[in-house]
Amino acid sequence: MSQKSEKIKCYKCEKLHYCDKHHILPQGIFDKGETVFLCKNCHYEFHSFLGF
Ligand SMILES: [Zn+2]
Ligand SMILES: [Zn+2]
Repeated sequence: MSQKSEKIKCYKCEKLHYCDKHHILPQGIFDKGETVFLCKNCHYEFHSFLGF
C-alpha cells in the first residue's frame, strides 16, 4: 500500500505537519461532520483535554 501524505497546516498550532483529520464534534451527536486537521501533538492534546 502506498499512501501519499501531504503536509497540511495544523488548525491549532498553524505549523505544517502531516496532520490527522479530527472531528470537532463527536460523531452521532450532530450531523454536521465538521472536521479540522490537527498534527499528532495537537490531536493528542485535544483528546486528552476532552478526556476521550
Ligand atoms: Zn499542531
Ligand atoms: Zn481527533
